[in-house]
Amino acid sequence: MAFTIIDSCTGCSACERRCPTAAIHGIKKEMYYIDANLCIDCGACGVVCPDDAILDTVGVLCQQVKAQQRPKAFVQLEKCTGCVYCVNSCPFDCITMEQAPSLLIGAGGIATTVAVVDLKKCTGCTCCELDCPYDAIHIWRQDDERAKVLDTHNKQLWGGSSSTEAA
Ligand code: SF4
Ligand code: SF4
Ligand code: SF4
Repeated sequence: MAFTIIDSCTGCSACERRCPTAAIHGIKKEMYYIDANLCIDCGACGVVCPDDAILDTVGVLCQQVKAQQRPKAFVQLEKCTGCVYCVNSCPFDCITMEQAPSLLIGAGGIATTVAVVDLKKCTGCTCCELDCPYDAIHIWRQDDERAKVLDTHNKQLWGGSSSTEAA
């Protein structure tokens, strides 16, 4: 079953703007609906709904999540091959290919260019994660320990700046 919208929806449109497959439709200030045939169950809508109006695939109410904790894409630079699949799959043009950090190349990194995510634009929609053939990009909440550890590690590789700043 796809995500669904229930009648507490006030038609604010926050969910519609984050949906990677344009599955959400409606008229502002009226109840929106999700096209089950288009929904890929990514959850990007549920974390922004202010009205407790979105149910997940098993009918559980999605919780709104603070902006700084919402899921985002994190790249494991050592595994990235620079194949560009994720760049092509991102519906929001968040990903660019950048020169791999010299520390990574010096340590036997496999790519000369690697994926870099603009975290401000990323909705955590999972399209890149689903398309990456090398398990090199992960959607994690920003307060997830794995995200924090990888972010710190990547910052060290980029020589102190964040990957977003390096983009
Ligand atoms: S779960 Fe994802 S694909 Fe489905 S309606 Fe929400 S944002 Fe769109
Ligand atoms: S799809 Fe995966 S391996 Fe390819 S560029 Fe993106 S993160 Fe790197
Ligand atoms: S999760 Fe990946 S595909 Fe989706 S918006 Fe973020 S970078 Fe783009």
